[in-house]
Amino acid sequence: MKVGIAGCAGRMGMMLVRQVAAAPNCTLVSAVERPNSPTLGQDAGKVANIDPLGVSISDDASFLFKVADVVIDFTTPTATANFAKLAAEARAAYIVGTTGLDKPTQAILSQAARFTVVIQAPNMSVGVNLMFSLVERTARHLGEAFDIEIMEIHHRQKVDCPSGTALALGRAAATGRGVDFETHSRKSIDRSIEQRSSGEIGFAVLRGGDIVGDHTVIFAGSNERIEITHRAHSREIFALGAMKAAEWSLNKPPGLYSMNDVLGL
Ligand code: NAD
Repeated sequence: MKVGIAGCAGRMGMMLVRQVAAAPNCTLVSAVERPNSPTLGQDAGKVANIDPLGVSISDDASFLFKVADVVIDFTTPTATANFAKLAAEARAAYIVGTTGLDKPTQAILSQAARFTVVIQAPNMSVGVNLMFSLVERTARHLGEAFDIEIMEIHHRQKVDCPSGTALALGRAAATGRGVDFETHSRKSIDRSIEQRSSGEIGFAVLRGGDIVGDHTVIFAGSNERIEITHRAHSREIFALGAMKAAEWSLNKPPGLYSMNDVLGL
């Protein structure tokens, strides 16, 4: 499998370079960074703290999509909007880990999926994807007698908030309850001084240190509560999930897929 990595010098990108280098059936064929990145021209392996791989980091995203069977992208929403168009043109499979995508970018991804395989997941870990289905099921069974609050904590550099995973957990809860997520969700910051309304799905966000990512969904009823928690100990779980998605993408028909499809959940 010829793999290309977008954002190869980022936290996730470096981990993916190491995963690709270690996988017996994979070759890194291109590694891309943002224009003006100090890593341009350097060996992608060296930047990821492993032996050189003979692949110089470039900012040529068109080349990336032309030479790879599959491109894995953990970058920024602006970069992802551009990559999606290139994936469609080159018919390269495209694995999108970037979070915080707005509606227009989401529409560009759906459009690209008419021409190539696009696998998008706000969280690529097996455990979190199982958690989505547990949350949906719990919300379906408990109904509105139980208030739903979603709490997440991440490292201090994270920019989107609530996290893409927290929002996906909220959507899973809304699906289980049979309500519209957009009209029933509420960030805690909006809550100011008034009481919690019944039926709302609330969010609480914490940031600090180097925490990889913790998510808890609380179903709080009278006299009892259920909490479903996932704690990521290492970013490796996301990289492993992205690699699984890359392998799964080969020879699939064009379409927009999720980790549920990849994992058969
Ligand atoms: P990071 O800031 O460490 O890395 C992002 C990299 O992308 C940087 O090296 C940056 O220079 C590069 N980049 C920016 N614009 C680019 C462009 N136009 N072309 C090529 N490279 C470009 O961030 P990170 O922690 O690795 O996370 C990246 C994204 O992945 C974020 O949106 C994050 O929320 C998301 N993420 C998703 C999952 C998941 O499982 N889906 C897991 C972890 C992080």
